[in-house]
Amino acid sequence: MPAFSAGILFQTFIFLLLFALMMMEADAQQYEEERADMVDNQIAQRGIKSRHVLSAMKKVPRHMFVPSNLASMAYSDRPLPIGYDQTISQPFIVAFMSEALDVKEGDKILEIGTGSGYQAAILAEMGLEVWTIEIVPELAEMAKKNLKETGYIEVNVKCGNGFKGWPRQAPFDAIILTAAPKDIPQTLVDQLKTGGTMILPVGPVYSVQKLIKVTKKEKGIKQKTLLPVRFVPMIKSYL
Ligand code: SAH
Repeated sequence: MPAFSAGILFQTFIFLLLFALMMMEADAQQYEEERADMVDNQIAQRGIKSRHVLSAMKKVPRHMFVPSNLASMAYSDRPLPIGYDQTISQPFIVAFMSEALDVKEGDKILEIGTGSGYQAAILAEMGLEVWTIEIVPELAEMAKKNLKETGYIEVNVKCGNGFKGWPRQAPFDAIILTAAPKDIPQTLVDQLKTGGTMILPVGPVYSVQKLIKVTKKEKGIKQKTLLPVRFVPMIKSYL
């Protein structure tokens, strides 16, 4: 009798395990379809052409970078809250900024505002060497965890104040800011290679800002306004 119960128990366990695996596979497939749809309808259709950007956006599992209760909305056409009053940007904005960086495989890039780690994962998937700084310690930890779970272990995440940049790793081929300072931070321009690009939102807190492309010249910078945007502010310190 005990041997019989053990057998039944084992069979039930195997059955439940297989069922759970099947459900996970179905979920993964569903998310993959939603991701393909997002790339076609929100990103390619709105003019993003870079092969590297499109294939990275098709591959990185955005649902694993948002809070689990919002996973079903991960591929919708909007930013989402990630806690601590911060947001993961709308997929189109992530794609637009990634394309505007004008980078090539192997380039070294600095991101300010790691947040969930999603933008960093996209850049890593594009073949870039990524260094990223987040000022909120809990978010830096969350991003490290998200990046580890999705396999982007090569991304370098540091908790710190992005206004200081990462002087020991400078110069960078490109710099991307996902929080908005009031003006272009000169310290970050200094950490850019000549000919390098910086993409950043600039403007007043919680109002319409300008997404700007800065190109560093031998002497000074050239800047171009790309889009009106609304980002969270880049803060000077976090308590
Ligand atoms: N790139 C993120 C979006 C993050 S939102 C993603 O893909 O999810 C902007 C982030 O910038 C927030 O997490 C915020 O905490 C961070 N931030 C704001 N000011 C900062 C600063 N001075 N240095 C570093 N990070 C900063």
